Amino acid sequence: MSYKIDTMAVHAGRGEFARLGVHAPPIDLSTTYPVADAAEASSSLLEMAQGGQPSGNWVYARLYNPTVARFEEGLANLESTDEAVAFSSGMAALTACLLAARGRRNADHVVAVRPIYGTSDHLLSSDLLGMKVTWAAADAIGAAIDEITPDRVALVVIETPSNPTLDLIDIRRVVDQAGDVPVLVDSTFATPILQNPAKLGATFVLHSATKFLGGYGDVIAGVVATNADWARELRHVRVATGALLHPLAAYLLHRGLTTLPVRIRAAQENAKLLAERLDQHPAVGHVSYPGLREGEDKGLIGTQMEGPGCMIAFEVQGGQDAAIQVLNHLQVITHAVSLGSVDTLIQHPVSLTHKVVPKEVLDACGISEGLLRLSVGLEDVEDLWEDLSSALNQVMPALLQKSA
Ligand SMILES: *Cc1c(COP(=O)(O)O)cnc(C)c1O
Repeated sequence: MSYKIDTMAVHAGRGEFARLGVHAPPIDLSTTYPVADAAEASSSLLEMAQGGQPSGNWVYARLYNPTVARFEEGLANLESTDEAVAFSSGMAALTACLLAARGRRNADHVVAVRPIYGTSDHLLSSDLLGMKVTWAAADAIGAAIDEITPDRVALVVIETPSNPTLDLIDIRRVVDQAGDVPVLVDSTFATPILQNPAKLGATFVLHSATKFLGGYGDVIAGVVATNADWARELRHVRVATGALLHPLAAYLLHRGLTTLPVRIRAAQENAKLLAERLDQHPAVGHVSYPGLREGEDKGLIGTQMEGPGCMIAFEVQGGQDAAIQVLNHLQVITHAVSLGSVDTLIQHPVSLTHKVVPKEVLDACGISEGLLRLSVGLEDVEDLWEDLSSALNQVMPALLQKSA
């Protein structure tokens, strides 16, 4: 399917509805499928167990589920990839990519750029998968690969915009430096509406679908958009390790895709205004929002990314105590981790999402004690500003006293 993105969001993964005679996707909750022809079921099972598509009977729900497959087709359409493979969480999706790349390339090194999501940092830094990570600056990825030797590098991992600092990385330049090493882009903050890394040469486009794709804060899921060969490898890992997406979750995600373009554009308009106003507020230090200040977006807004998105990070003057006090004064905005929901969420990365990352890494990445990460939702922007500014103003007098 190749229509404009709003059309695809509403129609992708729904091609067989006319034949089925339905308007909403059927939810198939079967865990097993009755066998009519033993030989046919047996060869279908073997194909699926190796990551292929069913040739006949679906046999068992760990091998294939049609409700999940429809969501995957929808997401692949939006990312302009051959296929997509869905998992039970974003972390399960990242784990599957690491295992697949390790297996197929017979290499156990990863080159990655900080900052990234705290648990991704933790997974790469830990020895859980028996893989070694080399952290590099985005411009030094090629040099890092050469030093390790390209054959021994399984994967390059980047996140853009980065969590939580909203740094942008030029995906095309990373792909150029990586040569034959596949590049994974965690595109959770951008969504397929604002950025399509596969079009720029990325091999894996990863989303924590828990966030904007789901959109309502009621599904934990992950998905990877990729080419047909790698999709086969990922399904192989999924069948063998079992980190499946449940069909009810897939149904909700597929439904969420239909409103993704309008949700993102509306939240982005709110975010633009809030970023500008936060930048003017005396209780606020540095505001990170792609393109807020000229030159800071490396020319990537309007090219790599269609717009700056719905996430803002800002520093409260007065450090951790002041930042936590601001959170405690909010009425409309919810103090909670996660992001990409219809309602606005805010959290303190040093205490929560990046708690597992060592202090010196946080310092080096500019994740300071006063930093708050805001996921802007669909409320009226004036109500959001009233909430934020009055919380900041209530904390302000204390701040001024302290500095006097
Ligand atoms: C939340 C998040 C993840 C992890 O996804 P889960 O669905 O929570 O497992 C990975 N990357 C980014 C950028 C995230 O925000």
